Amino acid sequence: MRKKIVAGNWKMNLDYNEGLALFSEVTNMVKDEATGTQQVVVCSPFIHLHSLVQLAKGYSNIAVGAQNAHQAESGAFTGEISAKQIKSVGAEYVILGHSERRQYFGETNELLAKKTDTALANGLKPIFCIGETLQEREADTHFGIIKAQLEEGIFHLDADKFAQLVIAYEPVWAIGTGVTATSAQAQEIHEFIRKEIAAKYGQQVADDTTILYGGSCNPKNAAELFAQADIDGGLIGGASLKSRDFTDIVKAFN
Ligand code: PGA
Repeated sequence: MRKKIVAGNWKMNLDYNEGLALFSEVTNMVKDEATGTQQVVVCSPFIHLHSLVQLAKGYSNIAVGAQNAHQAESGAFTGEISAKQIKSVGAEYVILGHSERRQYFGETNELLAKKTDTALANGLKPIFCIGETLQEREADTHFGIIKAQLEEGIFHLDADKFAQLVIAYEPVWAIGTGVTATSAQAQEIHEFIRKEIAAKYGQQVADDTTILYGGSCNPKNAAELFAQADIDGGLIGGASLKSRDFTDIVKAFN
């Protein structure tokens, strides 16, 4: 059975104390909600990671992740953070290839392939983001774009490594815009992604891969999205900053 995951992406929000306060609220509210194969992940700014890991101790269904990691193991990269450093504070996950990183920091599929290798080599589980822009969807090139993101970003991995990944489909036009993909639009792409994984790694690996939807997911639309056959949870931006909304999205599994 593949894992069901609701992951929060705080982006560059919340100072240190605000982050700890929100996380404490969230852990209290979701600790009895996420059960069995369900997991809650909070991806915070680097400054919060160590403290959140301490606060998450004792909750087997709540994990902590970073939002980016450098592709090098270590060295003269002023201002950067390595996968090893993230792992050393006890974080389990790292978001890679978020569309904001692709758009504002020029991250390419080729670079993301390296980041994925380094994250995995250091024991982190990447939440690997893919998704098309509005222009790409309107030009009807979205399937090709997603296929290329998979092939160039993560399909070089062997099956054992690939099994450590979580994939997040986030249509760029739905991120932070209030425009959500319809459940049918999202399911269509998730099914496509799972078929591509099956063609590359076999049906078993495809069936075991968690594929999240992200982009204006909220307490109102989460249940319908999560009810789709190939949608295994969500990557939540804006709504992860409010403990009640985030908890309601976690509850949408039930
Ligand atoms: P959003 O962001 O939920 O605010 O649309 C999702 C994301 O960027 O991961």
